[in-house]
Amino acid sequence: MVNIGVLALQGDVREHIAALEHSGASAVPVRRPAELDAVDGLVIPGGESTTIDKLTRIFELAVPLQKRIADGMPVYGSCAGMIMLADEIADPSTDLKGNPQQTLGGLDITVRRNAFGRQRESFETDLRFSGLEFSATGPGAEPAPVHAVFIRAPWVERVGEGVEILAQVEPQEASHTDTLHGTARIVAVRSRHLLATSFHPEVTGERRIHELFIRIVRGEA
Ligand code: GLN
Repeated sequence: MVNIGVLALQGDVREHIAALEHSGASAVPVRRPAELDAVDGLVIPGGESTTIDKLTRIFELAVPLQKRIADGMPVYGSCAGMIMLADEIADPSTDLKGNPQQTLGGLDITVRRNAFGRQRESFETDLRFSGLEFSATGPGAEPAPVHAVFIRAPWVERVGEGVEILAQVEPQEASHTDTLHGTARIVAVRSRHLLATSFHPEVTGERRIHELFIRIVRGEA
């Protein structure tokens, strides 16, 4: 069985551990470099990217994480986790000394934080999601849509070469907020071993994103 870590410095760690265990992996929290060494893949949960950034450096995990990412360890980042995987943040937060927040990087994308608005503008919608064909119920059947929950979520403003777009929010799907300005917004991407979603599949009982990630870790997808 593949052994998948969940970065357990801040954010909704327990929900990801449960989702991975329900989907056929063994899942462990990761807080130390030695724990990182022992896993085949890693989930970076949602939470607050500025806090996760600071804690990865305080816990001396940032450099080992960057090394493992560069060596091809599969990583799935959800929401703040997507921000941590992005090579670039369009609107990084700065600390009291004016230093911008940092990311681990590895995924050639630019993200915009809180792009859909603040907590009040959190929303749910159903998305068509590429890459879930394994879950279709019969020959020629379409996979069911993914019910996605967005909480102070980022979107992806730029994708580099080799980054596959897996899902987008269409303007009419977030009609309570005008922040989309009539443009479809990218909310899920994959580049080889790195998978990222703006939304939180771990809070809805949706298991297929974790199943897809486990397949990536096993080398099956
Ligand atoms: N807005 C948060 C950040 O920038 C992410 C929110 C989330 O993970 N639900 O880190």
